[in-house]
Amino acid sequence: MAASGAVVAEILASCRAAATVGTSLKELDDVAMDVLARNGATSPFLNYQPRSAPIPFPAAICTSVNDAVLHGIPTSYRIVGGDLVSVDCGATIDGWVADAAVSFVVGEADPADLALVDATQDALAAAIDAAVAGNRIGDLSAAIGAVCRSRGYGLNTDYGGHGVGNSMHEAPSVPNEGRPGRGLKLQPGLVLAIEPWFMAGGSDDYRIDADGWTIRSADGSRTSHSEHSVAITDSGPRVLTR
Ligand code: MG
Ligand code: MG
Repeated sequence: MAASGAVVAEILASCRAAATVGTSLKELDDVAMDVLARNGATSPFLNYQPRSAPIPFPAAICTSVNDAVLHGIPTSYRIVGGDLVSVDCGATIDGWVADAAVSFVVGEADPADLALVDATQDALAAAIDAAVAGNRIGDLSAAIGAVCRSRGYGLNTDYGGHGVGNSMHEAPSVPNEGRPGRGLKLQPGLVLAIEPWFMAGGSDDYRIDADGWTIRSADGSRTSHSEHSVAITDSGPRVLTR
């Protein structure tokens, strides 16, 4: 999974470097496809179709811009200066999956957007710090939720973190809010995709586009999403997608 995670990290770094004003979201997907192929990896996103989705996911990355936060389909949309872009990506090598996401602003940033991105990064870091053997899933959830609420942002636990292994979405789920000391006890060998996503408007409501995939803040406010795949080990949390 560390090998898959290294590919995911390379994809996210490459997409971020390629994401300049005028770059299309589809072009970012092409970048991801190239990195996957060069590393002998496949995409767990491409053609993924949970029961809730009307069509298989048609790309190797999710690209979610501004009020879109999760599961955006890469289109011909060209990035405009000030856009807040999230890229979410997976890779599979020898049947082992890793999953991670980054959010960033292209061009001149609104300070409020940078603060929002900082919040999901800080929440992710806090949850990673809590990802130690003997702690429980609720400790991660509480750490994420505390960062979100203390800064006045909204979150919704319909979508959140998850176990990751031979498939992308495995038990246990890792909600982005919860009570410390509750839930599954963490043991070495467990790998979690931890993924806070917050909405700047402070509302917890979201909506799904007609494409059946793209998730947006209901109030149109900006959003951010940060994710790493993290292994619980005897010597503490090991981030596989850094
Ligand atoms: Mg992801
Ligand atoms: Mg994930």
